[in-house]
Amino acid sequence: MKKDVNFKTNINVYNIVHTSGYKINHEERLNIEGKTIRHSTIEAIDKRNFIFKKINIANFYIEVEENKRIFRGPPKYFENENDYFHSEEFIKIVNKYGLLSATHKFVSSMHSIDGVQEMIYTNFAESYPSDISSDLSIDRLNKELICSELLAEWKILFGEGKKKNNEATWSVQDYFLNKFFNKNVLYIDQEKNEMKIFHTCLGGALAVYKYSKNDPELQTCKFCGSNFVDSSKGNIQKFCSESCRAKHYRQKKLDSEIEDLTKKYGDNFDFSPMKYLDIIRRSTRFICKNCGKKYLKNKSDFQSNPTCSICNHNISD
Ligand SMILES: [Zn+2]
Ligand SMILES: [Zn+2]
Repeated sequence: MKKDVNFKTNINVYNIVHTSGYKINHEERLNIEGKTIRHSTIEAIDKRNFIFKKINIANFYIEVEENKRIFRGPPKYFENENDYFHSEEFIKIVNKYGLLSATHKFVSSMHSIDGVQEMIYTNFAESYPSDISSDLSIDRLNKELICSELLAEWKILFGEGKKKNNEATWSVQDYFLNKFFNKNVLYIDQEKNEMKIFHTCLGGALAVYKYSKNDPELQTCKFCGSNFVDSSKGNIQKFCSESCRAKHYRQKKLDSEIEDLTKKYGDNFDFSPMKYLDIIRRSTRFICKNCGKKYLKNKSDFQSNPTCSICNHNISD
């Protein structure tokens, strides 16, 4: 019998992030095929001080998408593309997540994948650098970690993925995303019938994420208002998490319980202190509007005798 091939990837990647932060250099001259071309680059301010930071790709994707909204508007905060890429808003993202290609050279210099090396790549995604059996001397890291890259790579990342009819969009060159996709390392585990993708850098991890989720649009959680990526089949997800779904359900239940009680007894009692757990425990929590005494009573006891013991205030009076 033929087994299905599983496609495995990792939501996390370790990136180096320079603690000094990054700056944009407009005067970088690159020599390409004998011609000197001027480019803008992003580079680490202090190349020798960095940390390894575990990054959740979904969070990175969400932050990139949120920032696209900032510069596209409405409202329009930036006149044009360049204003945005020279802004604080933009450099904040780079300072937080590091460069797209920072670790690529270093990770891909680990030997080609076999059973043992597979572990090394897995560790790079999950537990780097503590469990890795590789030369981590500062000299080697300084030599192999990339501290500067073209600003153009980021401009592409922020470009429009799907073209909408006649809407003015900046040109997107799929070439760039393909380039990052190709920075990943593929490995087929024939015993498990699994194809694995190991990320060697932040840009590679993001390219896989974008493709595997089909360039997802951001949704806003109905409960907490935060943005999330809808990973459901029919794009029907309304909440960012199971926890928000549950909280929304509880809030609705609590609101309707308070509304019911207020309709019946609201002239004399205030039910706003009610909590969701009170409903589960079949209790009623309320304040006498006449004397201010607080009560927590068994629901059926309260309903058979809805009075305040202090002022003997009875709703049937
Ligand atoms: Zn939420
Ligand atoms: Zn009272």
